[in-house]
Amino acid sequence: MKDCVFCSILEGKIPSQRYYEDERFIVIKDIEPKAKLHYLAIPKKHYKLLSEMNDSDRDDLGHIMSTISQIAPKLGLDGGYRLVINQGDDAGQTVFHLHIHILGGQKMDFPEL
Ligand code: AMP
Ligand code: ZN
Repeated sequence: MKDCVFCSILEGKIPSQRYYEDERFIVIKDIEPKAKLHYLAIPKKHYKLLSEMNDSDRDDLGHIMSTISQIAPKLGLDGGYRLVINQGDDAGQTVFHLHIHILGGQKMDFPEL
């Protein structure tokens, strides 16, 4: 997808360190970390929102979530982690290529969540 920063990363036009990669997604570090450890899990297929997912996208998302749980120790997230998916303006979504924030490396200071 043209003008999509995550598609540019996936295509290698923007260099990035990949902490994990398989045929369905990559894991990179967020450029502006909001926790001691802040990764992004980015599906290789471009879609903006959960509402755009088809059946195979749903399979991808299930695969991504379960793989995150398997690779968490390698990412330094032995103590636990939080997953966040921002959807739309009210949530503060800035990149409209679906992605999962993986936050950890510290106690999360949002007790209301
Ligand atoms: P969201 O606000 O949920 O759309 O999250 C987008 C995230 O992408 C933000 O946390 C940004 O810091 C992050 N981000 C934007 N550009 C890059 C980049 N080139 N490499 C890594 N992370 C990025
Ligand atoms: Zn994209």
